[in-house]
Amino acid sequence: MSKRDYYEVLGVNKNASSDEIKKAYRRLALKHHPDRNPEDQKAAEEKFKEICEAYEVLSDAQKRQTYDQFGYEGLRGAFKGSGGFDWSDFTHYSDLEDIFGGFSDIFSSFGIDLGGFSGFSQRRGGSRRGAHLGAEVEITLKEAAEGTEKVIRLMRPEACPVCKGQGAKPGTKRVNCPQCQGAGQVRTMGGFFTIARTCSRCGGEGKIIQTPCSNCSGSGRVRKEKKIHIRIPPGADTGLRLRVTGEGEPGIKSGRAGDLFVDINVLPDEIFERHGNDLLCSIPISFAQAALGTEIEVPTLNGRVKMRVSAGTQSGKIFRIRGRGMPDVHGYGRGDELVRVNVETPTGLNARQRALLEEFAQSCGESVHPLSRSFLEKVKKLFR
Ligand SMILES: [Zn+2]
Ligand SMILES: [Zn+2]
Repeated sequence: MSKRDYYEVLGVNKNASSDEIKKAYRRLALKHHPDRNPEDQKAAEEKFKEICEAYEVLSDAQKRQTYDQFGYEGLRGAFKGSGGFDWSDFTHYSDLEDIFGGFSDIFSSFGIDLGGFSGFSQRRGGSRRGAHLGAEVEITLKEAAEGTEKVIRLMRPEACPVCKGQGAKPGTKRVNCPQCQGAGQVRTMGGFFTIARTCSRCGGEGKIIQTPCSNCSGSGRVRKEKKIHIRIPPGADTGLRLRVTGEGEPGIKSGRAGDLFVDINVLPDEIFERHGNDLLCSIPISFAQAALGTEIEVPTLNGRVKMRVSAGTQSGKIFRIRGRGMPDVHGYGRGDELVRVNVETPTGLNARQRALLEEFAQSCGESVHPLSRSFLEKVKKLFR
């Protein structure tokens, strides 16, 4: 069988840079993936293998040099099989993974025999990052204003202390899986390719536990309560999510631990209504105080302050006290306190109070009630 020149296979010239070679490979691998060529899968498979072989040689400086000097014959020693390039000589599975997005995808649909590729089984049974965990913390407005520290109790899987996370009873060993003889995969013939599937017994690890650890029943993990201290910054608000690095579930086989995400929930307050960094406080005043003017005491996050209410203040008016709101969570100063005065209608009047008010009402002309006056004028205009 005559072999095509590797440069010709990838459609690049002899001086192509490694980048150009990689790009050409990427383009051709996508084009000739057997799954994308269902009408002539067999030809696509051969084409695909040819492309992979060319890339295997030209992407490796040493193999490329040998090929440039001695041609295809010079590479015989570089391949494991006596018949030349075989899939077991291919070392760019991670490139394929990049191109097709995901390992299992390619190999289940495509079924390349990976028996000879040592990197594969390591990957399959290899380390994995631990899962992220989530928690919620409720704090009061006062705690949010000052910043606080909280302890979160989590039930979290941890590496079993008896077997050190291995799952095997201490002193016993993990043995080769009898179903796959330690390969991690079970192979069946499927036309051009040998189909390799992850072994169901060992989950691809190639090893099984003969005597499980009695503490964790062989899982290598135990659930344990864990207390985690977290610092909540001043100005925290509902919706704030804190990330505590490395406090999620532990990684598998020395993989990195996941993170813990803590959602902050600030409880509603009896006095203050929060609007971003501003705090709104509604204070009732009497009708006489509003009419005559007065000085009232206003609660703030840090103590009481006196505030002047001018004579003739209408109900609902908002006064602003600068810098008495919540601190900004990013450290940009503080919000304001907004004080809304609500004029309260007196109830349960005694006879004398009633008589005084009636006398007062009779003495009032329109002039002392500016809002009523302007409203009546609008109504008059409407019905004119
Ligand atoms: Zn254990
Ligand atoms: Zn197995």
